[in-house]
Amino acid sequence: MSATAAKEIWFITGSQHLYGPEPLAKVAENGARIAESLDAESDIPVRVVFKPIVTTADEILNTCREANNAPNCIGLVLWMHTFSPAKMWIAGLTALRKPFLHLHTQFNRELPYSTIDMDFMNLNQAAHGDREFGFITARLRLPRKVVVGFWKDPETVNEVGAWSRAALAWNESQTLKVARFGDNMRNVAVTEGDKVEAQKVFGFTVSGFGIGDLVDRMNQFTDADVDQLVAEYRDTYTIAKEHDRIDSLKVAAKIELGLRAFLEEGGFGAFTDTFEDLHGMRQLPGIATQRLMASGYGFGGEGDWKTAALVRLMKVMAQGLTGGTSFMEDYTYDFSGEPKILGSHMLEICPSIASDKPSVQVHPLGIGGKEDPVRLVFNTSAGAGICVSIIDVGNRFRMIVNEVDVVVPEHEFPKLPVARTLWVPRPNLKIAAAAWIYAGGAHHTGFSQALTMEHMQDFAEIAGIELVRIDDSTKLHELRRELMWCDAAYKIH
Ligand code: MN
Repeated sequence: MSATAAKEIWFITGSQHLYGPEPLAKVAENGARIAESLDAESDIPVRVVFKPIVTTADEILNTCREANNAPNCIGLVLWMHTFSPAKMWIAGLTALRKPFLHLHTQFNRELPYSTIDMDFMNLNQAAHGDREFGFITARLRLPRKVVVGFWKDPETVNEVGAWSRAALAWNESQTLKVARFGDNMRNVAVTEGDKVEAQKVFGFTVSGFGIGDLVDRMNQFTDADVDQLVAEYRDTYTIAKEHDRIDSLKVAAKIELGLRAFLEEGGFGAFTDTFEDLHGMRQLPGIATQRLMASGYGFGGEGDWKTAALVRLMKVMAQGLTGGTSFMEDYTYDFSGEPKILGSHMLEICPSIASDKPSVQVHPLGIGGKEDPVRLVFNTSAGAGICVSIIDVGNRFRMIVNEVDVVVPEHEFPKLPVARTLWVPRPNLKIAAAAWIYAGGAHHTGFSQALTMEHMQDFAEIAGIELVRIDDSTKLHELRRELMWCDAAYKIH
């Protein structure tokens, strides 16, 4: 996982020279206090660094250029404590290539009725200074997040924190490399897409490899390496006697060693494979993929490079938060009682979402024609989560996010040999599934119990892609109109 501790958000306070040196010194002092306070907040996972206040167009342009060139700077928080005529911001904001958040706050919380005078008014005028700034960001049509509230309020801090996580993922996306073993699963449409456009929009690259490259790397490991990893499996998970099949475990361990080495040595943060292309391999990677996801790698099944990248980005966004993040697939429904979705995959669900100690199991796999793959089997903790899909609709990427509530299954699944998650989508399955299908969302998703709609919305805003929200307030007729309007808007764009 990338080192968040070194990443920075720059806190920049805008002003002008109209007020003389004394108020400007006060502006700088107050800005530094706010930056220092935000920096100390645990809800913001990166450093918040105070930068000298900007009072001229040249200072603004220079600061924006400096931000562009600073590898550790993942974004800017901008605040107009006083008034900063916004024509001064045009050159800087136009040159800026890092995300920004417009923090609409005020140094003082209360209105000081008994002491307020014009000096106070002139110093504490974000109420109109930030409106002037807001005009130019709207006029320039720039992606941004506007957060309104007192800077010490938990809600304000939390909103800045969510955005900083999205900015972290955006930073990751610029250099993310996805390894793709084999091609797309035959004739599947939704897992396809324009990889050139994806690189232009998101920054990440997708490189294809023959499965033989992976098999070669696997074969460089010795029996001793393999035995050591098998011992780790036995120590870490439960394993029933009938599943403790040494030959299968050794094959699985060798796959994990080879895959992990291949990804590490190539600098990859995500990968995809397909059961249709396993020449030279005895099993489809199961436990290997599951444990790699738990280490922070993104994964998408059947050549799904978009979901592989998405899962990696969601894992970067979620680091340090409670709750796991996994590749997921909508599998089957329970239409009785309160309708639910059972999510799973053939093998590849990340144990970061496990509610119990995963058990190592070996079962036949009906498809792929290979030996019985080793996999980790577990249930998922109850609680709120999100399912996220990114699709290529031809002239743009669309992200679809559904808020869900994971529930504890009322019954066991004694014959189901895969990890699984049972959830009620919001507002309910009838509306959520129809909305998802109207929007064209994939069967593959990035699933997270650490992230919320806000994180994904902030990421979509930074990336400049369409976002379709499916939540408690979703009404189908409105969603269908939204899809139609968005189609029209992107044609004009
Ligand atoms: Mn699949």
